[in-house]
Amino acid sequence: MIIQDEYITFTIGRQKKIALIAHDSKKQDLVEWVLENKDLLKSHFLCGTGTTARLIAEHSTLPVKAYNSGPLGGDLQIGSRIVEGTVDFVIFFWDPLEAQPHDPDVKALLRIAAVYDIPIANNRATADFLLTSKYMSGEYERKVINYNRNINSRLKKLMEE
Ligand code: PGA
Repeated sequence: MIIQDEYITFTIGRQKKIALIAHDSKKQDLVEWVLENKDLLKSHFLCGTGTTARLIAEHSTLPVKAYNSGPLGGDLQIGSRIVEGTVDFVIFFWDPLEAQPHDPDVKALLRIAAVYDIPIANNRATADFLLTSKYMSGEYERKVINYNRNINSRLKKLMEE
């Protein structure tokens, strides 16, 4: 971790910590995509929301750590893993045609992935581009806003008032 002025840099290692999530109408697509890319995915760490993780594990026989189901907070759990640094790559086939009971959680996950500069694929084409990126076999430095600096300057300002 290198502390720079405005950003802190974190390394996404060779072995990615990938979260897999799909809404119901997209689960079949995600399972197919995982099977197509099984050879590559098997060298990474996989996790996912409850139902998605179970489906993928059963169809692919790859180990997939399961969090809670999405509507029960699984997306938020994955968001918190991003904050902690134990998830650094997301494949999330969300359904653009159907409102979800947990839409606010989905939005929170998408937001936190943007804050933490996490590669996140929201459809199959993006997932294909990500997986064929040169960074898949190497490291990548993601840049996150230096909130320590941000907190310090806010504190300083508040104390002056
Ligand atoms: P699920 O959750 O994998 O448990 O279905 C995914 C979601 O709907 O966010």
